[in-house]
Amino acid sequence: MRAVRILMIFVDGVGLGEADPAINPFVRARTPALRALLGGPLAGRDPVRTSAATLVPLDARLGVPGLPQSATGQTAVLTGENAPALIGRHLAAYPTPRLRALLASRGLFTVLGSRGVSAALANAYTPEYFAAVADGRLRHAAITLNAIQAGLRLRGIDDLRAGRAVYQDLTNARLRAQGIPVPPVSPEEAGARLAAIASAYRFVLFEFFQTDLAGHGRLADGVGLVERLDAFLGAVLRASDLDDTLVLLTSDHGNLEDERTGGHTLNPVPALLVGAGRDALGAGLRAITDLAPACVDALAAGGVVA
Ligand SMILES: [Zn+2]
Repeated sequence: MRAVRILMIFVDGVGLGEADPAINPFVRARTPALRALLGGPLAGRDPVRTSAATLVPLDARLGVPGLPQSATGQTAVLTGENAPALIGRHLAAYPTPRLRALLASRGLFTVLGSRGVSAALANAYTPEYFAAVADGRLRHAAITLNAIQAGLRLRGIDDLRAGRAVYQDLTNARLRAQGIPVPPVSPEEAGARLAAIASAYRFVLFEFFQTDLAGHGRLADGVGLVERLDAFLGAVLRASDLDDTLVLLTSDHGNLEDERTGGHTLNPVPALLVGAGRDALGAGLRAITDLAPACVDALAAGGVVA
């Protein structure tokens, strides 16, 4: 069955590591949702196909020496272009002018917009975030940047309070710690909200990057984080109509799945596919550069738009 819509859950810094609980929090954590989908933990380098899910390992190295990084990896995910080859190296954090131009012309939000496919970024942004960008303390990472380039409305605190957005930490805990008056949200409630947002569009993306922060040792308790992510994913799936929705969880590079390094890895990253059209879309995936073309094909083929 073809997917009417795609919900992409982008988790920064999650590779497919060894199935060893001593080094991999995805194996050590209690992950009932992932285990129900895969028959085991989110680990190992082999493709998996069960009655519930398809897991395709994706190459994130793209033939460029060195450890894959976020600016080039996310640009590759969004554009389908080999961004690290284009600039000669894997680049961390923020896109360069050349990558920004590539995102503006070939980014997934741009391309879907030009094809008339409705799309949204489900994350919430604070006034403090925009102030930090305005005065140069922060720059937009690739996903936020491409959403802005494509003319998408970014969601704010009012949306978050109304349940029409999800904060990047899922639970609003970081906002509350900053004194921003927003109610706490459970990972399960965040998942239900994301599914509800997705039901109004044909493509929705949610970006979660605490996994990369944890992999760098900047957040404690990687196991707890994996368990929150699993609870969130389980709720997304329970609240989604999987007869017409494809839920796609993926990443830009490995990190959290190997605690020996404290940094990025060379591991493949998951394309975890659940719901409508998972086999058709998964069949064309080999590397992170295959994701955007596959999504465009699935959503815009035949000129069928909504
Ligand atoms: Zn990182």
